[in-house]
Amino acid sequence: MPTVEVITAPAAMSAWSEAARARVERIAFVPTMGALHAGHLSLLSAGRERGDRVVLSIFVNPTQFGPNEDLARYPRDLDGDLAKAASVGTDVAFVPAASDMYPPGSQTSIEVGEVAQGLCGGRRPGHFTGVATVVCKLFGIVRPHVALFGEKDFQQLAVIRRMALDLNLPVEIVGRPTLREQDGLAMSSRNAYLSPDQRGRALAIFEGLSAARARFLAGERGVSALVEATLARMKDQVDRIDYVEIRDADSLRPIERVGGPAVMLIAAYVGATRLIDNMRLG
Ligand code: AMP
Repeated sequence: MPTVEVITAPAAMSAWSEAARARVERIAFVPTMGALHAGHLSLLSAGRERGDRVVLSIFVNPTQFGPNEDLARYPRDLDGDLAKAASVGTDVAFVPAASDMYPPGSQTSIEVGEVAQGLCGGRRPGHFTGVATVVCKLFGIVRPHVALFGEKDFQQLAVIRRMALDLNLPVEIVGRPTLREQDGLAMSSRNAYLSPDQRGRALAIFEGLSAARARFLAGERGVSALVEATLARMKDQVDRIDYVEIRDADSLRPIERVGGPAVMLIAAYVGATRLIDNMRLG
């Protein structure tokens, strides 16, 4: 059984990457918050195909959680994560302590503009500043040639693409499709919070997306009618809806009719668990 080298100190991680770069090895990088599932593993496998070395980071980044969010109870399973990561050929797990990522005196953060506003950016103030800052820091430490992210977090991927472009970061950003459970529920570390009843009701998010897509494929192009189809399917199943929106898939700007590439995005609570998912239309 191959093993994964665990590195905790940022300086040691950078030294490892410098040595790999000196050997002209291409470094693929997958940042995560751990509690790995098949969706994360699909990113690591895609990294294996794109790089000579694959680096995984596991860091539950405190700055991207709001004061009333689930930072303290976020699932953690380092041993399980390392075994799963080893099974898909990961070379290194970078597992820094929060005190090493944010030494006392830190006072720099990265704010991405329009694409980080609305949707999760509107509902979780400061979230994408936390994400952009930690991903930029991780890029600086790991120095990857290519970094892989899931389309499951569609707005996050757009924010990171924008940041990499705007800051001339020398990293290729690759987006990968969402992995789903057999019935369609998007895989998420947060699914572990769901009771059996909640797990059943959570499927309404995927079914809501599918309802909109079916209406779209039948010819409907009006955003409000498509959103209505989704809301009708989710009614009585989820406990609170943060948003159901259809946006331009590239700019994430709001649209009224689906003319080109578009995406429906949903955030909803089942019990106390906030779930997100999305599906492309057009
Ligand atoms: P997280 O650990 O939730 O921060 O996610 C780490 C990375 O895995 C992000 O790029 C996510 O978009 C990606 N990811 C999470 N869930 C899935 C999924 N179901 N399918 C594919 N990628 C995913």
